[in-house]
Amino acid sequence: MTLRPEVQVVQIDYGPLELAASLNRAIARDSPLLKVSLDIHWDEPDPASALDRIEMTLAAFSPSFREHQCRGPFAYHVFRKQGPPSHGVAGDDAGAEGSPAQTAKSRAQPLDAGLALAHLIEHAVIDFESAITHAARISGVTGARRRPAGRFDLMIECPDPAVGRLCLALAVLSLTGASDARPPGRREHDLLAIARLAYPHPGRVWTPHGVARAFAWPMARADAALSSLRQLGYLAPLVDTVNISGVPRYMVAPA
Ligand SMILES: [Zn+2]
Repeated sequence: MTLRPEVQVVQIDYGPLELAASLNRAIARDSPLLKVSLDIHWDEPDPASALDRIEMTLAAFSPSFREHQCRGPFAYHVFRKQGPPSHGVAGDDAGAEGSPAQTAKSRAQPLDAGLALAHLIEHAVIDFESAITHAARISGVTGARRRPAGRFDLMIECPDPAVGRLCLALAVLSLTGASDARPPGRREHDLLAIARLAYPHPGRVWTPHGVARAFAWPMARADAALSSLRQLGYLAPLVDTVNISGVPRYMVAPA
């Protein structure tokens, strides 16, 4: 039994940030970044076991998590048990402010559960982003603020703010759901599939019919997925007087 963490997005910014490049050399100085501040409250008595379970759930959802490379303090390395690291999408972590320099072999020791969870959210954003954009390499960094307690900053390379916001929302939902017996599944795969389809065509209009045809899905499935993407802010409904059919039409929401 894992206690559900409370994760609140405090702020989202987008743009290059030289600080990120100094924290993680894999991040280019002019690379656009998704910058997120999170508040995490998690009274889990056994965070090491809970984090292991969440990692297993994420790896079952997306096998590419096993290919993430993790830098920084060993105690915070993720997906260690899932197999050796290989070259692929990189989740790179520098020991940012407040992250304890742990080097012991096990995570079963005092660790900042909130920082570990924030770091896992960073990896989830990276994984989902690569699923949408097919980027071969995405880097990020997670750090804890000294004040207030429980506040964390994530900086992740991201070519598109709409994609970044969607991946953040899906990452938070997936991690809190994974700790709560509501693991990510077909619904989340559907949302990522539509975003992957929409990403290269920013001006295109999407309808349940078009999406159902593109994926050979029943209409209800396409309708539900588009509606979820609207709720998450990735799609915006088009309102026009010509459309009297009542069929919803969407475009990727402006940033
Ligand atoms: Zn990492």
